[in-house]
Amino acid sequence: MEIITTVAAMRGWTRAARAAGKRVGLVPTMGALHRGHLCLIERARAECDVVVVSIYVNSLQFGPHEDYRAYPRDRERDEELLRAARADVLFAPADEEIHRPGHRTRVEVEQMQDVLCGRSRPGHFRGVTTVVLKLLAIVNPDLSFFGEKDGQQLRILRRMALDLHLEARIISCPTVREKDGLALSSRNAYLGTDERRAAPVLYRALCSAAAAFRAGDSDAGHLVAVARGVIAAEPLARLDYVEAVDGETLEPLTVARAGTLIAAAAWFGRARLIDNIELRIGP
Ligand code: AMP
Repeated sequence: MEIITTVAAMRGWTRAARAAGKRVGLVPTMGALHRGHLCLIERARAECDVVVVSIYVNSLQFGPHEDYRAYPRDRERDEELLRAARADVLFAPADEEIHRPGHRTRVEVEQMQDVLCGRSRPGHFRGVTTVVLKLLAIVNPDLSFFGEKDGQQLRILRRMALDLHLEARIISCPTVREKDGLALSSRNAYLGTDERRAAPVLYRALCSAAAAFRAGDSDAGHLVAVARGVIAAEPLARLDYVEAVDGETLEPLTVARAGTLIAAAAWFGRARLIDNIELRIGP
């Protein structure tokens, strides 16, 4: 695996790979890799000839009182995992590479960035879109891979790619979970023993709403109430939101249908965890 830290070297690498007729895949991450990330890499390996994984803890997407400093970083372990996963390149740029001196440009996907997690994390998605666009511009992949776990992020990035006529296709991969349903996340490392035991309630709540939908309830307000009820029964969970929104535009809706997204966020101690489920008609 090659480790590349500069924009110039990364561009040169992709140019050579493309000239050799290779399809380039990019998996953007913030490191502290887990099986969720590895699943994206596996999918990228299946669909591309060469795979670039970026590790960049993007300060722009953290609020002033959020966990940028505390965010888990373990470069040695990440490199080991990436080698085992047969990534071709680790792109690990420093801040000065990503943001040129005097940089002024920000990318915003209006409205979609202000709902759901955007309400309690103002500026978060602007930070995400700005940096993902930069990574796409630097790496210039054919395909880029993102997890359904970050459901709002995925929809926003798809909209950005469409609106800005980006060549790179956005591919999504299903959420990887622990046996008890908890979605894998780098932030699960913040959970104490009791909080870890409580955390699967988030997914259980979403599954209860999905079950009510499958049983014939299409009132979005009811479905949200079902999920809220499940979370309210867990004293260690502090709910941020549960909402039912359009699975493409993230607009609120009153009637749920197949493809509707039910998204939730809750605090367990100092860990703010998110999860979501897309409603389906079948099992
Ligand atoms: P992060 O390092 O948390 O910024 O995540 C990097 C990528 O991995 C994003 O596209 C996430 O959606 C994806 N990801 C994170 N956790 C999971 C998971 N449990 N299952 C699938 N993808 C995930």
